Amino acid sequence: MNHINRREFIKLGLTAGSLLALGKGSDLITKTYGTKDTQKKVIILGLDGMDPHLMKIWMKQGILPNFQQLRSEGDFRALRTSIPPQSPVAWSNFITGTNPGGHAIFDFIHRHPENYIPYLSTSVTEEAKRAIKIGNYVLPLSGGEVKLLRKGRAFWQILEDYDIPATIFKMPSNFPPAKTKQKTISGMGTPDILGTYGIFNYYTDEPAELKEDIGGGRIHEVYVIGNRVEARLSGPINTFKKGRTESSIDFKVFIDPVNPIAKIVIQDHEFILKEGEWSDWKKVHFNMIPSQSVSGICMFYLKQVRPNFKLYISPINIDPGKAALPISTPEDYSEELERKFGPFYTKGLPADTKALDHGVLDDGEFLAQDDFVLNERMEMFDYELSKFDSGLLFYYVSSTDQRQHMFWRLIDKNHPSYDPALASKYGDTIKNIYIEMDKLLAKTLEKVDQDTILMVMSDHGFTPYHRSFNLNTWLKENGYIKLINEWKQGQEEFFLNTDWSRTKAYALGLNGLYINQKAREREGIVNPGEEKEALTREIAQKLEKVTDPKTGERAILRAYVTKDVYQGPYVKEAPEIIIGYNRGYRSSWASPLGRIPKNIFEDNTEKWSGDHCMDQEIIPGILFTNRKIKAKSSALYDLTPTILKIFGIEKPKDMIGNPIF
Ligand SMILES: [Zn+2]
Repeated sequence: MNHINRREFIKLGLTAGSLLALGKGSDLITKTYGTKDTQKKVIILGLDGMDPHLMKIWMKQGILPNFQQLRSEGDFRALRTSIPPQSPVAWSNFITGTNPGGHAIFDFIHRHPENYIPYLSTSVTEEAKRAIKIGNYVLPLSGGEVKLLRKGRAFWQILEDYDIPATIFKMPSNFPPAKTKQKTISGMGTPDILGTYGIFNYYTDEPAELKEDIGGGRIHEVYVIGNRVEARLSGPINTFKKGRTESSIDFKVFIDPVNPIAKIVIQDHEFILKEGEWSDWKKVHFNMIPSQSVSGICMFYLKQVRPNFKLYISPINIDPGKAALPISTPEDYSEELERKFGPFYTKGLPADTKALDHGVLDDGEFLAQDDFVLNERMEMFDYELSKFDSGLLFYYVSSTDQRQHMFWRLIDKNHPSYDPALASKYGDTIKNIYIEMDKLLAKTLEKVDQDTILMVMSDHGFTPYHRSFNLNTWLKENGYIKLINEWKQGQEEFFLNTDWSRTKAYALGLNGLYINQKAREREGIVNPGEEKEALTREIAQKLEKVTDPKTGERAILRAYVTKDVYQGPYVKEAPEIIIGYNRGYRSSWASPLGRIPKNIFEDNTEKWSGDHCMDQEIIPGILFTNRKIKAKSSALYDLTPTILKIFGIEKPKDMIGNPIF
């Protein structure tokens, strides 16, 4: 998962939202719940991004013995993913048993046709509609609201209708969690306390490291005066204050004059770190008005004391013990976990891939951080697994996806970011996370009895990402986008240099292409009906012929016309075309938010080097089961009716898949 890891994406925040209505929640409040006597149990491990090709290689080498055993006693298949194979889309297929036409998540990023402004697709924050001003404060008279934009009912809501209990741990595309009495905690898509997908803070006095603007993080220049550093940690915007100032906490660092250690003093915490040492979670409180504060948790990493001072603070996560936004159902489930385990990562994708990409954390430091994530997940898994005795348990792991994104460059000698020295040190990172998952499976297998059906699945696989494609640049070169100022090309984002009165189509999001349609887009010029249809087919055909001048390879395998491949009530909200890139190719980071760089193709020289936003056919996910699979091919949306059928529930009409056993 995933991908919102650049400055442009972060800037969107969660407030640049849409007003789409929330899908209906369950209304079973009067029922006694979770009492149904069913012998059947289901355990599902959702391991983001596990790839069937890599699995086969490593099973053959004998380093994944538990997967091999499960395969020989049960079954193993490649699992068809979504179009496009982005995690929020793919997991939504699984959650609802539909495709994007049924759940309305088409990409990480959607746009408002009335102003072409992009927004994050899965949730929206709406502020209180009425407020009163007193002195310097603006006090809301009604509560603001965070809404889930995914449509369709989640399978655990349907299980609830039949009194079958479920625990859903960190399911992506489920923030805020869909209304239910089941135990759920949100995962990918859950923001930090700033309302973004994660912003770290980095304090240094090293001039070379100071860049003005850095994606996903803030770099602060500090001065070491008399072995002392004074700095400030920024919190959420104080919407209670006129002028909406940023809340903040001042803190001090006292550096030992002799040894490479320092004492950090922040609010009621005082702790000592050695150079290269991480703190545990620290709770911090941002005061809003005298009676209100927002509680967050963060970790400190003292990267260096001398000759230059370097201190990293992780993105500030929502405090699970006192959640400022809804992250679990029932609300006290996150508190239960916090009481048991102490503070834990709540941000959707916890590993700080941005800090690694920008060199603020190096490979080893990044892995140390992701190990915290993994260890937390493993401990909580043991807890949930030991308690599990009826119904369904879904458990999600993100490290599999994140490590493949960041470390593909070290298993792929042809990658533009390949580094032999780093490869000799960290080249086994991906293999090791597969081995960790094999151990997770071993624990699970111990719990599986005759009545338990086990599925181990992923939302998509992985491929190398060598070359970036600027789809908007291609559209411009082919006359579909017209610029206001030619000489400004590449400088503006959000299509600010686009002449809409002469533009026929535009790309937005990592895989989407929209027609600039009359009476839908604010300045649409293409008539719906025949004209749009012909244009859509024309562009799709041309795209499938695009070749990379550097390699001679096709950049795009399939350009899907969405009305041909989607079913359900939301097809009309979809982009007209979804791009299925060839192996090695992906959308650039610039094009998805309406930037139009000069070149159509670019080398990918970043650490983010493996990816899956390609054509669905080349990156299926995995499916292991402890039963024989009867279906010829299985897709994510087939698993949903499969789960229901195990519990004797007929699939609802809007589900498009079929049970696999
Ligand atoms: Zn991913």
